[in-house]
Amino acid sequence: MLKMQSTEKSSKNLPEHAKVVIIGGGVIGCSTAYHLAKLGWKDIVLLERAQLTAGTTWHAAGLIESGGFFSETSVEITKYTLELYRLLEAETGLATGYKNVGMITLANTRDRLEELRRVAAFEREYGVELIEISPKKVKELWPLANTDDLLAGFYSPGDGRVNPVDVTMALANGARMGGVQIFEETSVTDFLIKEQRVTGVITNKGEIRADFFVNCAGMWSREIGKLAGVSVPLQPTEHYYLITEPIDGIHADLPVLVDLDKYAYYREEVGGILFGLFEPVSAPWALDGIPKGFSFGEIKPNWDRMMPYVEEAMKRVPILENVGIHKFFCGPESFTPDIGPMMGLAPELDNFYVAAGFNSLGILMGGGAGKVMAQWIVEGVPDVDISEIDIARMMPFENTPKYLQDRAVEILGALFEDGYPNKQFKRARNARKSAFHDRLREAGAYFGVYAGWEYPDWFAPKGVEPKVEYSWGRQNWFDYSAAEHHATRENVTMLDYSVMGKILVQGRDAEKYLNYICANDVAVPVGRCVYTQWLNEKGTIEADLTLTRLAEDKYLILTADGTIPAVQAWLRRHIPDDAHAVITNITSAYSVLNIQGPKSRDFLSSVTSAEMSNDAFPFLSMQEIDIGYSLVKALRVTYVGELGWELYIPTEFSLHVFDTLIEIGEDFGLKHIGLQALNSLRLEKAYRDYGNDIDNTDTPLEVGLGAFVKFDKLGGFIGRDALLRLKESGFRYRMPQFLLKDPEPLLYYGEIIYRDGIPVGHIMSGGYGHTLGASVGVGPVENKGEAVSRDFINSGTYEIDIAGIRYPAEVSLRPMYDPELKRVRC
Ligand SMILES: Cc1cc2nc3c(=O)[nH]c(=O)nc-3n(C[C@H](O)[C@H](O)[C@H](O)COP(=O)(O)OP(=O)(O)OC[C@H]3O[C@@H](n4cnc5c(N)ncnc54)[C@H](O)[C@@H]3O)c2cc1C
Repeated sequence: MLKMQSTEKSSKNLPEHAKVVIIGGGVIGCSTAYHLAKLGWKDIVLLERAQLTAGTTWHAAGLIESGGFFSETSVEITKYTLELYRLLEAETGLATGYKNVGMITLANTRDRLEELRRVAAFEREYGVELIEISPKKVKELWPLANTDDLLAGFYSPGDGRVNPVDVTMALANGARMGGVQIFEETSVTDFLIKEQRVTGVITNKGEIRADFFVNCAGMWSREIGKLAGVSVPLQPTEHYYLITEPIDGIHADLPVLVDLDKYAYYREEVGGILFGLFEPVSAPWALDGIPKGFSFGEIKPNWDRMMPYVEEAMKRVPILENVGIHKFFCGPESFTPDIGPMMGLAPELDNFYVAAGFNSLGILMGGGAGKVMAQWIVEGVPDVDISEIDIARMMPFENTPKYLQDRAVEILGALFEDGYPNKQFKRARNARKSAFHDRLREAGAYFGVYAGWEYPDWFAPKGVEPKVEYSWGRQNWFDYSAAEHHATRENVTMLDYSVMGKILVQGRDAEKYLNYICANDVAVPVGRCVYTQWLNEKGTIEADLTLTRLAEDKYLILTADGTIPAVQAWLRRHIPDDAHAVITNITSAYSVLNIQGPKSRDFLSSVTSAEMSNDAFPFLSMQEIDIGYSLVKALRVTYVGELGWELYIPTEFSLHVFDTLIEIGEDFGLKHIGLQALNSLRLEKAYRDYGNDIDNTDTPLEVGLGAFVKFDKLGGFIGRDALLRLKESGFRYRMPQFLLKDPEPLLYYGEIIYRDGIPVGHIMSGGYGHTLGASVGVGPVENKGEAVSRDFINSGTYEIDIAGIRYPAEVSLRPMYDPELKRVRC
């Protein structure tokens, strides 16, 4: 029999100690509590400032879907959520309002059609149906919709809606049944912190000591984070829907209708239509702070601002122009700078977790998000790729009010806009510029943005404006980038690589602890550079980086700048406080220029007095060399598969070195390149990109990085035992490289890989291989749960599905370009 407990009110005292304290009783807090209890944890306390759902959850529209996501993590989270909500009533005895009415997403343009076809092909791998239907069929399913301009609809029968309050109450009830104590009207006002751990919360009802803390306070999470010294960059923003009077022909089984191009969705509500808006220019709210006591709150709607969007939305369902509006609702929702939620262990502390910033998807992600959080807390790492959800990906500067407010303006609409490849944010730009920025702009750079850095993506030739025309086909810069690619393969090029993060680890114990953290052996002579992964106890990858030994007691770690908070936190957590090893982020101390290509030696030899020959300056070594008046650290490495050096230049010498290189480079035909060319070049070499091709769910062995794991080194390394077990049991998959036989189609991400007609995985990242002459990509190949041998990979015949059409592909476990590394080691 179902056992229901009432919420603990002020009459009951708070416990003095708990294992976990969860802050916030919205859908996310309740789901986290529910899933922690499911994993068998006891002594869990949830604290809610007002009443459950009083924040944002109470007014959500309740759309739930998994048919529309183009990322494996989102699909896994939403698919689980749907399944959970379907079964929650039976488990908890509380209705959830779950209605499996389906959803139709409209395609009105060729580009949207291509995008949705790609998404549909991707989702099929996950068992999510997204079926292309004709405009006629759309009309049959939604008779009041205007379908005249449609090219197609995409019907996801598994989707639907719930009542967000009921779902949250059911989750809370399920949590209580698992022993969770919930206290309403209990507001967290401060934290007790000792070193890198929170030891307790202070509330209006007293203190609780605890082992773990989870900040699920919705739009208040930023303030709660500040109390604990944790950066939670999110911005409350206005979010609207309207509800009409009842309309003939509108019934409760009507599918949800989504018109991305009109930034609107439509569903039945008490016999009328609820239509919601994702306007492209939205309004950040509560710029001076969330009003005190804001519970079950609404925002006064701004009719003038919203009317143009409302009128546009009405055109899809013309009857809306002639019915009474019963409610024009505006509520606040939290938006993050990159449209991803912020989940996981905060890098600043060792027992403080966050789950916030759900960008208007908190209900439909709620079930899965709670599951992921519980697994993160209990097991240390969840079994989904966290690249796009991990709070540690956020940079501290992103929490400045101006950055948040400027960026938030475009985030709501971005959810509905075309998801073109290489799409860049338009607002809150130019936060971080390398020292070369103005020179590069003059040279025709088109800039992308990564971790706030403006990086050169490609260069427009003289007389051409560096502006992108987005599409799913060859974008306007395709040929320019191809020329940059060829110049790198045939001559010499220069890339502003200042987006590389740099961390120094110094001290007598540096080698000892780094060697235990790294899977490769870093007990190398001074001047050597080592490529390595950092693993967790499960043997999966936490970081992918290089270390260079600068001195007996000094290492330089190079990693993508966006991973700096995670990498620093990992070091701090794995180097004991009393060890003689100091960690310093020196990213801003050096600019980086990456000189690559077969002529790079000749070129650099002409700008330095240093000896650059293979004997004097071997592959994977660093030396200090002179360029003009400056001393720079030159590192002989490559991410493009050619002879080359990365130059680490003291920031104040940046322009001097740059100008010197450009001046002498003229004689060598030195050409600027951008990150698009870099991506094409590295894909031909199948060099892995952490966060794209590989992530926290992969082991180095399965993704082809076994050569960088040193099982026999003295003292072992974190994750060694798990990798040894994996060697015994066999690999779950392998990650070969694919090359399309047809030179026309383009690979980006998510295209399904077929082996002998059976889906076996998807492309993790793809691009055009200008030397190989077709699209190239990497992706895992599985074998229906069986171990995957080299022979299994090599013996198959492969095709890759792009937007529903399958193209034959070649496969290789060795890089298709220069497998012998002849060009790199020369
Ligand atoms: C108009 C609108 C429509 C939406 N429609 C949908 C939809 O159709 N589908 C969908 O998936 N999502 C939708 N959303 C988004 C969804 O509502 C949110 O993403 C979700 O509710 C966020 O849940 P949460 O638990 O993170 O936050 P909240 O629900 O805000 O919960 C946070 C809780 O923390 C409590 N709290 C704050 N400070 C403290 C403190 N100091 N101590 C203790 N407790 C504290 C608050 O009182 C609050 O109850 C919509 C949002 C809006 C605004």
